[in-house]
Amino acid sequence: MTTFSFEFFPPKTAKGEHSLWRAIRRIEPLRPDFVSVTYGAGGSSRDRTVAVTRRIAAETTLRPVAHLTAVGHSVAELRHIIGQYADAGIRDVLVLRGDPPGDPKGPWTPHPQGFRYACELVELVRSLGDFRIGVAAFPERHPRSRTWEEDIGHFVAKCRAGADYAITQMFFRVEDYLRLRDRVAAAGCDIPIIPEIMPATGHRQIARFAELSDATFPADLADRLYAAREDAGAGHRIGVEYATAMAGRLLEQGAPGLHYITLNQSTAALDIHRNVLAALGTRCPV
Ligand code: FAD
Repeated sequence: MTTFSFEFFPPKTAKGEHSLWRAIRRIEPLRPDFVSVTYGAGGSSRDRTVAVTRRIAAETTLRPVAHLTAVGHSVAELRHIIGQYADAGIRDVLVLRGDPPGDPKGPWTPHPQGFRYACELVELVRSLGDFRIGVAAFPERHPRSRTWEEDIGHFVAKCRAGADYAITQMFFRVEDYLRLRDRVAAAGCDIPIIPEIMPATGHRQIARFAELSDATFPADLADRLYAAREDAGAGHRIGVEYATAMAGRLLEQGAPGLHYITLNQSTAALDIHRNVLAALGTRCPV
């Protein structure tokens, strides 16, 4: 069965909180398979992840997935956070290593009583209860992996440690996803790898995201968005059209679902999802 899901981040301000909840309430009637909440680099944003995820569990009909990273946490702290989720009835965790705070491309230093790699955190979550565990996958290879062989080997180790499924980093070329999926399958691992769909509606913003994530931003898409840089409506149409075409091809090629990045704004993700449902012959309830 194809899954549809949406990603949010914990907002910093009251205005941001309002946008988040407006987006959540617009998406709720679609009855997505789950919604996920990202985990910040440190401090109060982490508490907000826990608070937002718990509120989704308590006050909506949605199934929340809590992202959790190993950055700056001892194993005891990680156990405590997982315990908080379990107390709130949350049984879905997207387990990540995380990037160094401040400079995501800087040297990675684990907490002295913490973990070095995501697979260790997968093992911990698996040992603590009946959780459904997701992990990260990288269609263009993780930037710190020197070879594909190394990258796939470490990905498969996360699966063997107990991951149930994976969600990809954002990407803009369907071939990258298909190549990753085939490499993982060839390594004997068959967990579902859900492609992440990023609506590329603004030139500057997407160029920044692509740089941070090391995703290749296709020149033709960049040129079209650049030409539309003064016209937000045109940028929106280009991004929705591009993502709809990608989503269609991914599903045709057997992708197990689509995970939409919302940036806490439901409009672009909803427009893409409506198009996807229309292509599948299903009416969108909103
Ligand atoms: P790992 O699987 O540990 O891999 C990291 C690197 O170490 C890779 O190069 C891998 O090949 C290598 N490696 C793994 N195991 C070993 C080993 N045993 N020996 C040697 N090398 C090894 N970040 C956040 O801060 N918050 C979020 O909410 C968040 N959400 C994300 C959601 C998705 C869908 C994705 C794709 C990424 C997300 N990230 C988030 C970013 C993520 O934390 C970073 O990309 C991080 O650099 C990689 O995390 P990982 O879990 O894949 O790490």
